[in-house]
Amino acid sequence: MSLIGIVTYPAEVLSKTARKVGRGDIEHVRKLVSDMAETMIEGDGIGLAANQVDELLRVIVVRDLEADEVHYYLNPTITKGHGEELGEEGCLSFPGLAGLIPRFEQVTVKFQDLDLKTYKVELDGLPARVVQHEIDHLNGITIKDRSTVELYHREEEDEESKRPR
Ligand SMILES: [Zn+2]
Repeated sequence: MSLIGIVTYPAEVLSKTARKVGRGDIEHVRKLVSDMAETMIEGDGIGLAANQVDELLRVIVVRDLEADEVHYYLNPTITKGHGEELGEEGCLSFPGLAGLIPRFEQVTVKFQDLDLKTYKVELDGLPARVVQHEIDHLNGITIKDRSTVELYHREEEDEESKRPR
């Protein structure tokens, strides 16, 4: 595994639509998900989309804090959403900033694994929010586009930066 650089706003790649992962991409994507997972953890993030590491492929990684695992999703789409909740979100591509963003409380996500086998999973709470945030990235949408308020500096940033990484 190796760390890769995280692209920050206003890099053009953050406003581009990523393309679907196909059979011919799998070997590259196998390394990519592993590098993205390591990069996300190093950056103390809970999710990362391929656009954020300058790759226009529909690949996201999401950290499951409770299980201490990283889940990856290839070609993810939301097939169902329920409820709406306004919540604070940060983004590794907007260091130190946050916004307030309405998201579905519960979602059904259809995605593929590294064998391009298709699955459906139901998520709620934080993992549901993270997946919606990361799928937005694949469509060239960021927290700056979604936030109901101007992005603001996160109050806990000082505490956060003292955390061991
Ligand atoms: Zn983000």
